[in-house]
Amino acid sequence: MESYATALLYATPFFLGLVLFEVLYGRFVKNQKHNLMDTVSSLSSGLTNVVKDSLGLVLVLVSYPFLLEHLALTEIKATWLVWVVAFIVLDFAGYWNHRLSHHINFFWNQHVIHHSSEEFNLACALRQPISNLLGYYALLLIPAALLGVPHEVIAVLAPIHLFAQFWYHTQHIGKMGWLEYVIVTPSQHRVHHAINKEYIDKNLGQIFCIWDRMFGTFQEELDEVPPQYGVLKPANTWNPIIINFQHLWRLVKDAWRTKSYWDKLRIWFMPTGWRPADVKEAYPVEIIEDVYNFEKYRPEASNSLKAYALFQLIMTTVLMLFMFYNYSNIGFEGLLLFGAFVFVGVYGYTTLMDRKKYAVWIEVFRGVAGLALIFFTKDWFGIDSFLSMASYLVAIYFLITIFGGVYFAYFEKPYAAPNLAS
Ligand SMILES: [Zn+2]
Ligand SMILES: [Zn+2]
Repeated sequence: MESYATALLYATPFFLGLVLFEVLYGRFVKNQKHNLMDTVSSLSSGLTNVVKDSLGLVLVLVSYPFLLEHLALTEIKATWLVWVVAFIVLDFAGYWNHRLSHHINFFWNQHVIHHSSEEFNLACALRQPISNLLGYYALLLIPAALLGVPHEVIAVLAPIHLFAQFWYHTQHIGKMGWLEYVIVTPSQHRVHHAINKEYIDKNLGQIFCIWDRMFGTFQEELDEVPPQYGVLKPANTWNPIIINFQHLWRLVKDAWRTKSYWDKLRIWFMPTGWRPADVKEAYPVEIIEDVYNFEKYRPEASNSLKAYALFQLIMTTVLMLFMFYNYSNIGFEGLLLFGAFVFVGVYGYTTLMDRKKYAVWIEVFRGVAGLALIFFTKDWFGIDSFLSMASYLVAIYFLITIFGGVYFAYFEKPYAAPNLAS
């Protein structure tokens, strides 16, 4: 896990730099595809994902080395050809995993976060799950195990394969000629994120689009059908942690409430969105019907709240980078506590962005907890040995968090936006 933390230490600023570049480019060409609160929410989702993954918080049901040991028919050396074959096999597995995530209720829960943004931009690519708590992905790698692809090859290729899916989350690149027949392009992936009936659940490929063409899930972006982004059951929150478990919670409620025992069992494995007939009638859920005229989630936000949300995002990112930097010195228990601060932090400030009053309790709690930790350990996870007095700066940050929570929950009244439409 330490090498993963090191990789993230470099990957995070790289991806954030590209997001910033897209924001500036949008401003320059006067075609902004970012909304500040949405982008803060997306990037915060990315933070929770990498922290969770770096801690290895997953129950591995099947591991690749296990399959390799029991299934390999041949033993092959890691020559360049193996790398190429492994990449293609990995992409094939990725296609089917993605298809499974879209079509089965239970699996949709861990993918919905990626589709929950109502914008489409590079930040949206970083909306990655924390609800993937069961490690079953290796099952899809059975073809690789049969061929005897070494574990190291998979371990190196998997993050590269994931990172290579970042760039095509943009609206600034049009169609790409002959490449449209080989790889997944921004145009194809816009279709994937769209909820138009022509587009939904199409283009499930990750790097190569050949799988979609082979298995009948390919759809070209059409000029007369501009993609509309989001999910049919809107998330209605900036809080990525809530979004990660919203669908699961709906399934739990439906399974609990339905009278049919058969439905209680099968709801988890039915097509995404399927609900038992009795609860569907008794507890209707809002679903977007007219994709061109639905209201995007935009709770009121003053400029000071926007600036404050950005400040919280930056501070949380800086603290997380320090966590990765000092990973081996902090120790596992310390990392869990550090990770908890990141999670509660994201939960707190995004709830404040949602303009929920109870956010104040979370913010005061984490502010006091942070100050107490610094007071009792006379440090912040060893930060003072890298920069003297840095723990004082962290303490000031927690003081600001307490005041920010109180200020935005109680003192900044929701204001009436001037009605420009009239
Ligand atoms: Zn998807
Ligand atoms: Zn995507």
